[in-house]
Amino acid sequence: MEEHCNGNSEAYAKIPKIKFSKLFINGEFVDSVSGKKFETIDPRSGEVIAEVAAGDKEDVDLAVKAARFAFDHGPWPRMSGGERRKIMMKLANLIEENLEELAALETIDAGKLFKWCKIIDIPNSIDLLQYYAGAADKIHGSTLKMCNGQYQSYTLREPVGVVGHIIPWNFPSIMFFMKTAPALAAGCAMIVKPAEQTPLSALYYAYLAKQAGIPDGVLNVVPGYGATAGAALCSHMNVDMISFTGSTETGRKVLRAAADSNLKIGEICMAGSRVFVQEGIYDKLVEKLSVMANHWVVGDPFDPSAQQGPQAHKGQYEKVLTYIEHGKREGATLLAGGKPIGEKGYYVQPTIFIDVKDDMRIAKEEIFGPVMSLMKFKTIEEAIERANSTQYGLAAGIVTNSLNIANTVSRSVRAGIVWINCYFTLDPDCPYGGYKMSGYGRDQGLEAVDKYLQTKSVVTPVYNSPWLILISS
Ligand code: NAD
Ligand code: MG
Repeated sequence: MEEHCNGNSEAYAKIPKIKFSKLFINGEFVDSVSGKKFETIDPRSGEVIAEVAAGDKEDVDLAVKAARFAFDHGPWPRMSGGERRKIMMKLANLIEENLEELAALETIDAGKLFKWCKIIDIPNSIDLLQYYAGAADKIHGSTLKMCNGQYQSYTLREPVGVVGHIIPWNFPSIMFFMKTAPALAAGCAMIVKPAEQTPLSALYYAYLAKQAGIPDGVLNVVPGYGATAGAALCSHMNVDMISFTGSTETGRKVLRAAADSNLKIGEICMAGSRVFVQEGIYDKLVEKLSVMANHWVVGDPFDPSAQQGPQAHKGQYEKVLTYIEHGKREGATLLAGGKPIGEKGYYVQPTIFIDVKDDMRIAKEEIFGPVMSLMKFKTIEEAIERANSTQYGLAAGIVTNSLNIANTVSRSVRAGIVWINCYFTLDPDCPYGGYKMSGYGRDQGLEAVDKYLQTKSVVTPVYNSPWLILISS
């Protein structure tokens, strides 16, 4: 493994100044009611990037009030889908114009590789906006012939109302638009609570949304902690729906809050990392992985040669190191890595465990860091059974030369998405979400717009008209 962790970021990119650090409510940047702030940290160094206004219940109240007004009385849900499309396309263009700065902002706040932010995170955010902009003017109901022939009805697809979006730190930009873009297309008004570890890009998007012409109150951003701002949003009686992505533990809290108030819930998610390898190729793969790990470059996320940057925040860094210790203690063999890197920042060596048993914690729980666990299997049936014997089911990948195996395994694995001979390929048109404890509902795809719509049936008789004028030509 090569370490390039104390690189000179300025040599590779312009490090942006922080322009937005207040709450965005009703089209304005404002301080929190309490005046409180929290620090957002740069995982390259562990140093403070900016102090961000910390939203709490009173601020969520103000944001919900603004969104409620924008939804109940404002133009956004009432304008044509085509008008919403044009404004969303303008926002996509503004993001494109500021791509370098947004990519660098994401890198300093989340530690994501700058080169990936430039080609994945920010461009995918633009794609999501453009995709759902295109959906905004294609929201249709259906015409129904009622059974007795004396009535007909049609359905209207109407926005659900005020939506609260709660976002994790691993994809701050993509998750922001995965949630807001279909909700905007549907005509909803919303409050976004970004993760406390990565609030900066969301505030920048709020600013650009206003420039693009999204009316005040439609898109509010309230940074803050989960237990304060997040919890207040989830239990607010004037919020019609919550869309949440994060850990299962928080998902449970969100569901509990929803049960105690009037909320509907979008999705919750988890990601897992267990690699099952057939016995005939196990040793060869271990050999190859060992070579790869030795050449893997961990370093400053602005450095173009880096393949892995720091963990996004201190809590996650410590969690990953704790899981590595569990792995060692439970008897898995460390093939590579296993240690933190350097004195500064949150860097962890790429870590590979072999001889992992299904009941070890590293195989059962989500680590969410650069740690891979290899497990050996004999038959395909056994692999399917063991892969399915987890409480999660977000994604699975199959590597095989056999079309039959690819077909059998993809239909048998209980996961929301299955990649065959590829991994992590996503597209706005491809629904994404989990089976089992990994979630409800789907983000992306046209069905994500449905989540933010509700159906109204309108029924009318087709007989018994008192009079008729029929013009025929
Ligand atoms: P988390 O659950 O701790 O936090 C997610 C969000 O929920 C944050 O904005 C947080 O402030 C908020 N939150 C925390 N407590 C809350 C409460 N009581 N009420 C309301 N909101 C609250 O998760 P995290 O550690 O930030 O993110 C990592 C997790 O997210 C991982 O478990 C990962 O699997 C999951 N995730 C899944 C997907 C996906 O698969 N689609 C994508 C991204 C993240
Ligand atoms: Mg940060």
